[in-house]
Amino acid sequence: MKKGTLCVHDDGEEVFGSITTPIYLTSTYTLTDEKYKKILDGKNRETYVYTRWKNPTTRTLEKKMALLENGEDAVAFSSGMAAIATTFLTFLKKGDELITSMDIYGGTFSLLQNELRQHGIKITYVECTSLDEILETISDKTKMIFFESITNPLLKIIDVSQIAKIAHERGCVLAIDSTFATPINQNPLEQGADIVVHSASKYLGGHSDIIGGIVVSSKEIIEKMWKKMIRYGGCMDPQQAYRILRSIKTLHIRIERHNENALAIAQFLENHEKVEKVTYPGLPSYSQHELAKKVLYGFGGVVTFIVNGNDEDGLKFMRKLKVCKEAASLGGVETLVSMPFNTSHSYLTDEERKKMGIRKGMIRLSVGIENAEDIMRDIHSALLS
Ligand SMILES: *Cc1c(COP(=O)(O)O)cnc(C)c1O
Repeated sequence: MKKGTLCVHDDGEEVFGSITTPIYLTSTYTLTDEKYKKILDGKNRETYVYTRWKNPTTRTLEKKMALLENGEDAVAFSSGMAAIATTFLTFLKKGDELITSMDIYGGTFSLLQNELRQHGIKITYVECTSLDEILETISDKTKMIFFESITNPLLKIIDVSQIAKIAHERGCVLAIDSTFATPINQNPLEQGADIVVHSASKYLGGHSDIIGGIVVSSKEIIEKMWKKMIRYGGCMDPQQAYRILRSIKTLHIRIERHNENALAIAQFLENHEKVEKVTYPGLPSYSQHELAKKVLYGFGGVVTFIVNGNDEDGLKFMRKLKVCKEAASLGGVETLVSMPFNTSHSYLTDEERKKMGIRKGMIRLSVGIENAEDIMRDIHSALLS
């Protein structure tokens, strides 16, 4: 079945023939001799014992995400960060090395710097678009390569299949945070990645009203990660799972509209006299446009641009917007606008931001599903006034 159908239909365990998956608000389940035996036999994942282990609503979401990402199984978490932390802690121990890049979510960077380092894990930051740098850095101690498939805010595109080849030759796993792409615009597992991680708080939830995370991979890896999830405790709540399931029913049409609107707005901005530069993978002017066409089904809903002037001019522009709202986060139905310098990248110095390519006056637009012309009119009048 195609993704549009997979999004709409739940593959849950049928009770009373209900069309939607109900929220199973139970912390525990009755025990039987059969269940005791399954637990003893190590078949915990198949057994309903306790909701941190397994819940029918959450399980339905996990199965749906596994189908959408073309993986064998999935495990849901209380947040994207719980999913990412558990991914690291499943594969990395003292003395191991992780290769990643500075182009990662601030929360992930903070986790690596403040927690994983303290556990004796070596972290090396490379340029995620440079296969040469990865080849030079990888060693026998490297156990994981972790990148975001579309980065924030520079929207760098990762060549998943090439990096997967390097990782597998050296016996390490490739994990991809695919939050920006969603399973509609890219399927990293099909390109050779071993693990795909999502913050469900963005496009999957899609309405800026939920926090959640999910990991999709092989049965074997998910079984390992599920055991860690039980120990560290970052399970998803069934009410959360229900709302994400409901959101995913419209994921395919929302993403189509995000893609369409973002492209139209990127083109509009590229021709605007008050805009210095536009970054969007769907623009022919974009440096990685050819790779983007190869690895993405759609170019996504995020557009980054630089207004003429400096950060002050950027702030002035944002505060004149009426339809677009100034807020962190992304992936909701409404257009959100923010500046990396005082949000996602505020933990860096001016010098570090400059080195990374985060320029003065840089704006990140998470384009929503509103009428595109209304958004353009809003941006146009804010740029001119
Ligand atoms: C938001 C985000 C996260 C963190 O997810 P939470 O659900 O907020 O914990 C991780 N990676 C990326 C790319 C994100 O955008």
